[in-house]
Amino acid sequence: EAKTYYNDDADLKYLSDKTVAIIGYGSQGHAHALNLKESGVDVVVGLRKGSSSREEAQNEGLEVLSTAEAAKKGDIVMVLIPDQFQAEVYKNEIQPHLSDGNVLAFAHGFNIHFGQIEPPSNVDIFMVAPKSPGHLVRRVYTKGSGVPCLIAIEQDYTGTAKNTALAYAKGLGGTRAGVLETTFEEETETDLFGEQAVLCGGVSELVKQGFEVLTEAGYQPEIAYFECLHELKLIVDLMYEGGIEGMYYSVSDTAEYGGLTRGPRIIDEVTKKRMEAILSEVQDSTFADEWIEENKNGIPKLKALRSDLDNHKIEKVGKQLRSMMNWLEEDKTAEAAE
Ligand code: NDP
Ligand code: MG
Ligand code: MG
Repeated sequence: EAKTYYNDDADLKYLSDKTVAIIGYGSQGHAHALNLKESGVDVVVGLRKGSSSREEAQNEGLEVLSTAEAAKKGDIVMVLIPDQFQAEVYKNEIQPHLSDGNVLAFAHGFNIHFGQIEPPSNVDIFMVAPKSPGHLVRRVYTKGSGVPCLIAIEQDYTGTAKNTALAYAKGLGGTRAGVLETTFEEETETDLFGEQAVLCGGVSELVKQGFEVLTEAGYQPEIAYFECLHELKLIVDLMYEGGIEGMYYSVSDTAEYGGLTRGPRIIDEVTKKRMEAILSEVQDSTFADEWIEENKNGIPKLKALRSDLDNHKIEKVGKQLRSMMNWLEEDKTAEAAE
């Protein structure tokens, strides 16, 4: 069972004489910067030249510096730009400014775990990873609550890495909900596996194949879209709130019986074996090597795959149908405004 920490296990005093440099002001960056600041922590934000986020951060009363200046000023440097750009930015603008006993922090383990960033031995390295998108990290905090976070300690040079990580998680609001201890290895590998096999890859293919089966059998694409994609949100919301049992409790008995008897015929032992193969490619870094190489080449394969998907019938009919549901746009706007 994962070790879990709450408010009483964390002490903000471990941040009291420190400056936290938040590098990047996107989904996670804005939430970390604002939550920590409101928790009484000294925060500076590091952004690249010409950054579109500069004004937004300054309007929130945050001090904005260049990435290098922020890294220099920060005792704790939290790297919150997209993972595929971190190694380059780290090498040029962060590493030169890390001094003895500083802390290098992340919200995802990819670059450390797969050796893309190799920090010196005289700094602490930890992860504080909220288990939710940034806008929720921020919104939940302002309502006096917090989202669950993971922490992991990769390198404890000072002997206080864990206390500092817990204090950081507390400043984010994470200890109000619960902070679970993991490792960079476990976080990185399970995250990649989850998004590939289940959340992004698995679910999208299931939806697409279901849509194809119905439309190829002569059913109308609009109807197939509703049954195979649109209604997924309802089901996922029910699972999110009450687990698989909670979902089955809420749907009809017909759906429950049909799902329980037919589901295992769709996703079976063979699928599970293929999931295990996907996991092996994550563990032996086949996937990471491929993705790093793809980025070096200017993401040609990703661009081609995006264009294939854009041409799929489910996307064409989906765009039409979603334009009929004007409240979807309002939902999105409301979310962005949070
Ligand atoms: P975002 O894509 O939201 O980051 C955007 C920020 O990064 C902007 O400030 C942008 O600057 C800056 N940026 C983008 N490209 C570069 C570049 N090449 N050089 C310098 N700055 C750049 O990132 P996320 O918040 O999604 O992710 C940050 C970290 O958090 C990642 O490690 C991710 O894995 C992790 N994470 C993300 C979660 C999420 O839900 N999003 C959840 C948990 C962890 P500009 O304004 O100039 O464009
Ligand atoms: Mg993920
Ligand atoms: Mg139905």
